[in-house]
Amino acid sequence: MSCVFCRIVAGEIPGEVIAREPDSVAFLDVQPLADGHTLVVPRAHVGTIEALDDAAADDLFRLVRRLADPVRRAVGAAGTTIGVNNGEATGQTVPHVHVHIVPRWPNDGAGSVHTIFPRNTSRTLADVGAAIRKAIDA
Ligand SMILES: [Zn+2]
Repeated sequence: MSCVFCRIVAGEIPGEVIAREPDSVAFLDVQPLADGHTLVVPRAHVGTIEALDDAAADDLFRLVRRLADPVRRAVGAAGTTIGVNNGEATGQTVPHVHVHIVPRWPNDGAGSVHTIFPRNTSRTLADVGAAIRKAIDA
């Protein structure tokens, strides 16, 4: 087993684990962007959000919801940014789904999720909406 998150979940390597659920585990990022930077992962080695089954997705996001406030309060933060790099092309470096919970403070030097994207659109909302609805049904 070479996946670092699988090894933390299995207890093979140390991790600062903060919560364990039947299908999900949360631990502190070893290279935190801020105090309290937490990763929430499914126990199963699954690479992307879309590859999770319904039960694993429910358990994962239930734990994210449950931890967001305690993580924030524990470090005295004002809010949290919650995000997922979903797939290698997005900068996901460990191919095991992980949801970042990053505590935030006013004027902490970081931006909103919107600040990571240059605005880059070429199609109308109606065109894209129709394409996505068609893809959902496919
Ligand atoms: Zn894994």
